[in-house]
Amino acid sequence: MIPITDNHIHLDRRGKGIVAAKEFANAGGTHLILVSKPSWTLGVQVTEPDGFKPVFEETIGIAREINRSDIGVIVFTVLGVHPAEITRLTDQVGQKHAEELMIRGLETAERFVIENEAIAIKTGRPHYEVSDSIWDASGRIMAHGMELARDAGCAVQLHTETADAAVIADLAAIARKSGLPPEKVVKHYAPPMVKVFKREGVFPSVLAGKGAIETALSEGSRFMMETDYIDDPERPGAVLGPKTVPRRTKQLIERFGEEAEEAFWKVHKENPEQVYGIEIMV
Ligand SMILES: [Zn+2]
Repeated sequence: MIPITDNHIHLDRRGKGIVAAKEFANAGGTHLILVSKPSWTLGVQVTEPDGFKPVFEETIGIAREINRSDIGVIVFTVLGVHPAEITRLTDQVGQKHAEELMIRGLETAERFVIENEAIAIKTGRPHYEVSDSIWDASGRIMAHGMELARDAGCAVQLHTETADAAVIADLAAIARKSGLPPEKVVKHYAPPMVKVFKREGVFPSVLAGKGAIETALSEGSRFMMETDYIDDPERPGAVLGPKTVPRRTKQLIERFGEEAEEAFWKVHKENPEQVYGIEIMV
């Protein structure tokens, strides 16, 4: 049996929650990298330095519940601060304080990594147009997240603007400057530019939409797969569903045979093991 890992998924108790993990398992999935949701989607108002803690505890709680159940899926968590928090928090408390709160949030995430409750820190910069001043603050926050990951010896997952070759090179340069090897940087929502990512060192987590994985495979096996399923009760079906990664993997193995299967052992087991320092066993 081949392990099948979704490298970036969210679960929400007001959405499908644990039922989504069951659907993933029934489709053949074995491991989930569960990423914390933005604070506002959980109705959490961050106003104090410890404000992100309940957001992270919610993610850890869901992971624990699945790990202790008989669903048969192993969950690892990635905790951090969504880059779009800066816009919302700036409106509420001003930009300077927003930056501070987000940095404290990343430090809280790092503590959970050190306590083995999480395997990586999520950070990044806005994917939409922002003022120069917010862009600069976001850059400082992301670099700080990378420094924390360096200190904790863990990886980061990045949410950024759409990645092209120049963006990928820029992210690798920022990582090196922060003392974090680019190999510990996972670009979430990555296009299937496997060769460019390999050249720059950054690790792509390719969205498993139509055709993307075929393209990725044609360039190699140095990538991971994700749905970015957001489990939003108001927008069911707005994104790829929780069964997508196992289904796509099995379809492609059926179509391309042994060669694809070998590549998928890398994608679903060796790559996450190497990037996060975890063990993927089935
Ligand atoms: Zn996401």
